[in-house]
Amino acid sequence: MSTLLLKNIELLVTMDDRRRELHHTSLYIQDGFIQAIGDASELPATADEVLDLSGHSVFPGLINTHHHFYQTLTRAVPAAQDANLFNWLKTLYPIWARMTPEDIRISTKTALSELALSGCTTASDHLYLFPNGAKLDDEIEAAAGVGLRLHASRGSMSLGESQGGLPPDSVVDSEDEILADSQRLIETYHDPSPGSMVQIVLAPCSPFSVTTELMRQSAVLAREYGVHLHTHLAETADEEDFCLQMFGHRPVAYMQEVDWIGDDVWFAHSVHVNSDEIQLYADTGCGVAHCPSSNMRLASGIAPIMEMLTRGVNVGLGVDGSASNDSSHLLAEARQAMLIARLGAGLSGASRSGEGAPPLMTARQALEIATRGGAAVLGRDDIGTLAAGKCADLFAIDLNRLDYAGALHDPVAAALFCSPQKVDLNIVGGKVIVREGQMTTVDVPDLLQQHHQAAARLVEG
Ligand SMILES: [Zn+2]
Repeated sequence: MSTLLLKNIELLVTMDDRRRELHHTSLYIQDGFIQAIGDASELPATADEVLDLSGHSVFPGLINTHHHFYQTLTRAVPAAQDANLFNWLKTLYPIWARMTPEDIRISTKTALSELALSGCTTASDHLYLFPNGAKLDDEIEAAAGVGLRLHASRGSMSLGESQGGLPPDSVVDSEDEILADSQRLIETYHDPSPGSMVQIVLAPCSPFSVTTELMRQSAVLAREYGVHLHTHLAETADEEDFCLQMFGHRPVAYMQEVDWIGDDVWFAHSVHVNSDEIQLYADTGCGVAHCPSSNMRLASGIAPIMEMLTRGVNVGLGVDGSASNDSSHLLAEARQAMLIARLGAGLSGASRSGEGAPPLMTARQALEIATRGGAAVLGRDDIGTLAAGKCADLFAIDLNRLDYAGALHDPVAAALFCSPQKVDLNIVGGKVIVREGQMTTVDVPDLLQQHHQAAARLVEG
């Protein structure tokens, strides 16, 4: 049995069912789960480790619902800096085709370290290229060393250029190979139990890189094993044009046709969805991974998140791949979600005060998307909130910092409104991953050296 006591917490944001924000409280952890939250006098006085969090705010660990870790190797590539999605992809596919298994391991550690330092405790990653012998196993093994929970999406591409798809034929695989490997990964790694560290997700990449048959067969396989389904959907106007031309449907109607609708499915982006499609998501439980920085970076558009929230769609947050963000800072992403929703509201009339102006996303709504929302999208009820029985996944920020000066009337809002901070403490399943602002599980200078070399080799070719 291992125990950890966090005492003298200045402010604890629980995100529990009552959305309680507790002042001057303590939290007791046993074997990776929260045992109790409350006054120090009600909790055990000692533990294997005791941390004094005077002057700190504590939040539930943030949940990242969409990423491509490997893209940390190709950030700010000059030829892809000023491109929209399709041109950006066509520039980067040949570079990514040079990746090795070791590159997957290095980039996984880099992305997860960045995420941990920004408050993330659970990340979903979407790996959809497997060149030169690379496997999803490389990512899963590297992630285990960092210590964050991982929802590893077995991505895939089967529709190459010669069949009318976007990617070159050299980076697509056959449907049979993809399905066999997907089944192997589920049987080897998928753990659906409470406190699970690894879950497998089946994730054909996008309508313009995957055959209809692979979409259908992936859904059948996922449901046979009870794993989730994930893909990019309705990201750009180009994709909408492609779907209309290739399949005779808008992207969401295409998903209906291939049986990709339900509470075991979540879509990255969903920028170009209309009111009927949003209502379908709400009625059927389809989740959305909102990736505001990427949508701005690639000029994709503004996802109608406030309408989704109003109608009850499960919305989570994602940083998206590091070549279209180009950061893995999840707390910064929550801030971007709040700001872009307000820009969207402004464009539809909120800049005129008075009756009927659309509501502005609040700091607490942005935090909710990044915590409870992400948990709902991933289909988990053991993370996203701080309460007895839940996973001990949380982060803490020292409030006494220049960036928060003048904002401590509301430290919760400060975390979202003020300049996004790196966290001082990050705990996953009761294990300290970040202590005093430093990774405990990764030698960052050593990792950086490896990462620089790998990135230079990939991009220079
Ligand atoms: Zn993506």
